[in-house]
Parts: sequence; C-alpha cells; structure tokens
Amino acid sequence: MDGSALEELDERIAGCRACPRLVAWREEVARTRRAAFTDWTYWGRPVPGFGPPDASLLILGLAPAAHGGNRTGRMFTGDRSGDVLYGALHEVGLASQARAERIGDGLELYGVRITSPVHCAPPANKPTPGERDTCRPWLVRELTLLRPSLRAVVVLGAFGWQAALPAFTAAGWTVPRPRPPFAHGAHVRLHRAEGGEPSGSREDLGGGAGVPGDGSLALHGCFHVSQRNTFTGRLTPAMLREVLRTAATSAGLPTTPPTG
Ligand code: SF4
Repeated sequence: MDGSALEELDERIAGCRACPRLVAWREEVARTRRAAFTDWTYWGRPVPGFGPPDASLLILGLAPAAHGGNRTGRMFTGDRSGDVLYGALHEVGLASQARAERIGDGLELYGVRITSPVHCAPPANKPTPGERDTCRPWLVRELTLLRPSLRAVVVLGAFGWQAALPAFTAAGWTVPRPRPPFAHGAHVRLHRAEGGEPSGSREDLGGGAGVPGDGSLALHGCFHVSQRNTFTGRLTPAMLREVLRTAATSAGLPTTPPTG
C-alpha cells in the first residue's frame, strides 16, 4: 500500500485528545516522570503503530505503558514487555535486533507491524470500555489500510482480543458467532465479508506458498507479554516464539529455524 496514508494516520493518532482521562494521565506521567528517566523528555501523546505499511503480520497489544511507549513514543519500546516481545521477534527472524530503547535505535521489523487497540497509556494499564470503544475507529482505519497485505494477526491478551473482534468486522472480515473466546494458542480464520473486495494474493506480494490468497485473516491468540505473565512463567519465551512462528507461517513470512 501507499505508505503515506499510514503515515498520515499515525500523525492524526498522535494528535488525538478524545479521552479526557487518558489525556490527563499521559500528560501528568510525562510531567512527573520516573526517577530513572528524569533526563528524558517524555512523548506524552498517543503512540501510533510501528512497522512497515505492507506488513502481512500484525501484533496487537493492549495500550502503551506509562514509562515505556508513553516515554519513547514507540510501541513496546523502553520497558520489560518490549524486551520480551522484541527479543522473541529477533530470535525468530522478524526483527533486526532485540534491543528497543528509543526511536532511532536502528530497530526494523520485517513484514510485521505492531499496534494496540488503545493508543494512550491508561492508569494501572486499564482502559475503560468507553475508552476502548472511543479508540476503535483508529484501529479500524489501520486495519483497512493494511488490508491489501495483511494475512495474520497475533493478539496479545484477552483485552486486545475483545477490543479487536468488532474492529475486524468493521474493517470487512467476518467474525464467527458466537464470538470465539480468547485462549493462548487460539487460532481462528476470519474470511472476507460477503461483498468485500478480495485483497490480492500472496503471490502478488512475492511469496508465501500455502497462504490463502482470498483475503482471509489468520487470527492467533497469545498471552500478553506483561511482566505479570512473563515473571510468573505463564508466558515463557519459548511459548511466545512458537506463536510468532506459527503466525508468521500463516502470513507467508520466513522465520529462522528453532535452535536446540
Ligand atoms: S486512547 Fe485513542 S481515542 Fe483516546 S485519546 Fe488516546 S488515541 Fe485518542
């Protein structure tokens, strides 16, 4: 797709002030800062998606962290959750490096984009249902722009799953009824809605043997990379790498073979 449309969307998202509680919180955190980051000028705004405009795999989180994305201005950048996520992406060959410290640190994603259903850091990492719904049109627009190349999505956690399903419907895919429940390892195929335009084939994009060219989307569930999950071992690096490899295969992306 034309990358300028996505860039324009990212700029519009970064200027959004639609949720008064989140605007107040993200700006207060940016003013007060954490002791370890007093030399930083916090971003303090909505954090747009990160990754190429022709991504075939999308990773959907929950919302930026107060001292991570809200500080650095890039998804999952500058916090422990990001260390886990980018570490795994690098190990499976979908990121240029494991390190994610700040914009301009050289990190590149290969065929992958990362975004979230809520673009502002919420108090206690908990957006309200109203804030989730207010932010949804941004996700619908992003999905619509990515549609020509998008083949698979990894949703991190139940909140993202519930927030994303209506966005997939609004962006032109059919979500089964009753709605599929979130589970780690869940795999659901979303077909293009009747009358929706097929969005090209993988062959058009230069690869991906065995990936359907009917515009359908492989949806994969994965526990969130939050510290609560990774510190307790509920989500291990191996579990995360396995979901990423499976989803990359659904998306027609090459990965490095597992070691050991
Ligand atoms: S959460 Fe979304 S809708 Fe609300 S202010 Fe942030 S960017 Fe805007």
